[in-house]
Parts: sequence; structure tokens; C-alpha cells
Amino acid sequence: MTASGPVLRIAYLYPDLMNLYADRGNVTCLVQRCVWRGITPEIRRLEWNDRLVEAADLYVIGGGQDRQQQLASQGLTTRNADRILSDLADGAAMLAVCGGYQLMAHRYRAADGSELPGLGVFDAETIHPGANVPRCIGNVVCDWNDSRLVGFENHGGRTYLGTDAAPLARVLRGHGNNAEDGTEGAVAGAAIGTYLHGSVLPKNPHLADHIIRTALAHSAPEFKLEPLHDSAEWAAHRAALRVAGLR
Ligand code: GLN
Repeated sequence: MTASGPVLRIAYLYPDLMNLYADRGNVTCLVQRCVWRGITPEIRRLEWNDRLVEAADLYVIGGGQDRQQQLASQGLTTRNADRILSDLADGAAMLAVCGGYQLMAHRYRAADGSELPGLGVFDAETIHPGANVPRCIGNVVCDWNDSRLVGFENHGGRTYLGTDAAPLARVLRGHGNNAEDGTEGAVAGAAIGTYLHGSVLPKNPHLADHIIRTALAHSAPEFKLEPLHDSAEWAAHRAALRVAGLR
């Protein structure tokens, strides 16, 4: 399809540091679903030393191990907080996965006890109970609005939502935020945090379109997102449900 629609500015945060379990596939998926509709995605990769200058309509960050998170936490809080937080306050969207999600909340206490400050987008904090405590690993299925989300999780940290935080979804299979309260992820305005890797968007096309729609509400609210022929993506979604013992 030729591009006749709007430009969507996507800031891809620390792709080299924060990319576990194919999380970069989320950006590939967003780009492709935009291109199919004539939207022009402009990807800005933020490397560790960079400072974001220009505004974005959508921020994406993937998961990372504690060591990589330490660098990402520093880069986010010392160089890029103002840009990101002012864009989010202005209605920009975000997808933050696992380690990236942890860094978008108030703080992450890593396995070695060190404290990594986050941006406070989500009213939540994450505590890693230590390397000897079993990690939350496996396939996840959640209830999300009137549908389901599928994915894969692997995290030591347990995330606890504060009173100002809304969960993204309710866990049907798997652990979610903390393996205790049945919540998975968080939502704040147009920002979504989740533990779901996968990568999560290719096999949850409704979530991918939800994110594109909320990002477009920031940049081109008059643009209408047409449905796609995405039966292959939905087949992948259903296959993941079956693997988890659901249909
Ligand atoms: N290091 C974090 C944890 O184990 C995040 C891991 C991840 O992003 N998969 O909790």
C-alpha cells in the first residue's frame, strides 16, 4: 500500500540493552500494521548515551536483565525523563515489557538488593526476592477487556500496584505481576506495562491495534484504523491459547 496516511513517531528505547525473548518483534509488528494502512512509521532508536530531543507519539521498550536495566535506569532517569514524561502527559502511548515495565514504575529492587529508580509512569514498584526464590516463568493467558492476551513470562521481580494504578489484565494462566493478586501489567493513560514477552504484539493483534489507535489519538485523531486481513496472526493467538490449555 502507498503511504497516504499520517506519520507515527515511534521512540524505541534502548533496543540493544532491552530486548529479551524477541521483544524487538513488537516494533516490527507495529511498523508492519502501520504500513499496511498507509501510515508512515518513523522509528527513532534511543541508544544508551542518547538524549531524546524530538517528541514521539509512541514509546516502546522491551525486557532486560538486571545488569542491562541498571544502565537503562540511569539513561532514562538522568537524560530522558523530561521528554518521555511530557509526551505521555500530552497523550502519547507506550508499550513497556517486563524489565522495561519495571523501569517505568517507581523503582525496581534488583536481585542483589540494589535500587534502580524508574520514571513513575505507573504507580507501582517491583521487588526481586533474590536469586534463590523461583522465577515466574511460563506461558500466560489473561482476560483483557472482552478478550484474551497470550504471552510468555520470565521474571524474578514481583510488581505491586499502588492505589493509583490500574491492572492491564487478569491472569487466567501464569503468574502476572506478582503471582499473588491475579493482576497482570498496568495501565496509566495511554501507557501500557506488561510482563508478556512473545513477542507479545504479533500474536495479540488486537493489542497491537489498540496501541496504534491510542498513539494515533495523539498525532492524527481523525485517521480511522481499518481492519486488516490478519487470520494468520489470530491463528497464532489461538495456538497459544491451546498450548495453555484454553480455547
Ligand atoms: N530482570 C528482571 C527480572 O528478572 C526483568 C527480566 C525480564 O525483562 N525478562 O525481574
